[in-house]
Amino acid sequence: PVFDDPAFDHHEQIVFCHDPQSGLRAIIALHNTNRGPALGGARMWNYADSAAALTDVLRLSRGMTYKSALAGLPFGGGKAVILGDPKHDKSPDLFHALGRYVDSLGGRYTVAEDVGIDVADIEQVAHETAHVAGVPAGGSGDPSPATAYGVFVGIRAAIKHRLGADRIAGDKLTGISVAIQGAGHVGYELARHLTGAGADVQIADVDPARVKRAQDDLGATPIATDHFLEAEVDVLAPCALGGLLDDTTIPKLRTSIVAGAANNQLAETRHGEMLRERGILYAPDYVINAGGIINISYEGASYDRARAFSHVALIHDTLLAIFQRAEAAGIPTSQAADRLAEERFTHPNPDPAQA
Ligand code: NAD
Repeated sequence: PVFDDPAFDHHEQIVFCHDPQSGLRAIIALHNTNRGPALGGARMWNYADSAAALTDVLRLSRGMTYKSALAGLPFGGGKAVILGDPKHDKSPDLFHALGRYVDSLGGRYTVAEDVGIDVADIEQVAHETAHVAGVPAGGSGDPSPATAYGVFVGIRAAIKHRLGADRIAGDKLTGISVAIQGAGHVGYELARHLTGAGADVQIADVDPARVKRAQDDLGATPIATDHFLEAEVDVLAPCALGGLLDDTTIPKLRTSIVAGAANNQLAETRHGEMLRERGILYAPDYVINAGGIINISYEGASYDRARAFSHVALIHDTLLAIFQRAEAAGIPTSQAADRLAEERFTHPNPDPAQA
């Protein structure tokens, strides 16, 4: 029931891919290409059934439209999901078949990595199509440092708006406390930026070795994973899992700001309003974590990391604009972000260079 799926949101095109020889079963969804060709990762996951895969790809591709629009990128939103177990079901043939499907879209969709897919898989896809991103040849490498840098500048914007510009002394964040959930690719790198700026960083991870690394290398203070949400800090930075802000957890928060990299932090849309009612400033996840895709957009023979990172730095101003709009309209920041994105992708863009 594609058109009746609750996640269906006027998607432009949905492609069901089946290649019996390789066993590929995949769905590619293009949500909106008004700003340019769709860019988004392929996810491989052992979905309970094809309905669950469809819902996921519809939701994820829609999210990419919003993310690219607010990052000022000339891309639309698209995503692919492969039904299968990433540990057992991968083969070069499977990714070649996916590549042929991506190629059949003639450039309307560019594929990159997502959960369950790594660089080697996308290199196999690249045997069959040029419409790939995030591969080492001509690529920009691991997007996590760019994501972390975007979260860092986003945290600065949130501090300015919620706590006052006087809490930031020049480039320094002395006297600011931040708790990070997840000391992985993004969380560790974010901790490095924050401690470098003089902030007091607490860090939680289910993997003790990762916490120890952040403690030894950066001087971060370890905290128990189940104390993260209740940490009494200026900023909570979720950099592990989504869905952590809900009816049970929001009343427990003792922070003024939630600003981190994790995707889909609000369990439901209405939790944006709940945070607002509690006076907690929320940096919408798809705005603050766009550094990685911004970096990917600069890929190519002339990739220039400094240029890409200057673009990532604009996340600071985008967030300030969203915070101000939300305050003026008396709406949650998550809703202000959605509205701003919709203004940017609802109509076809006549000049992609101005996207
Ligand atoms: P990662 O797998 O490198 O790190 C995640 C870390 O979280 C791991 O160290 C893991 O042990 C830890 N973790 C898992 N459950 C936890 C829990 N309950 N409490 C504390 N720690 C826990 O992932 P990443 O690439 O750093 O991404 C982090 C988040 O940011 C993810 O939600 C991801 O979707 C999102 N994100 C990442 C990027 C990127 O460029 N990597 C871009 C956009 C969004």
